[in-house]
Amino acid sequence: MFFSFFNAGKMETLTTSVTKTCLNCSAQYQEHQQFCPTCGQSTHTHQLSIEHILHELFHAFTHIQTRVFSG
Ligand SMILES: [Zn+2]
Repeated sequence: MFFSFFNAGKMETLTTSVTKTCLNCSAQYQEHQQFCPTCGQSTHTHQLSIEHILHELFHAFTHIQTRVFSG
């Protein structure tokens, strides 16, 4: 019993991946989890926001260009 308990603890430390903090509720979750186990918020919000900013910048440029060409 005790040995299995210690082994379980060892297993946990060995398999521990990167722990991250939810941007929405500040709960801890493992890096491989796609959604926060506490609030269900997508854990890729930060990555997506960077892509979103780049996307917005790209759109801003294309909008400026279309304005210049049309006007
Ligand atoms: Zn959360």
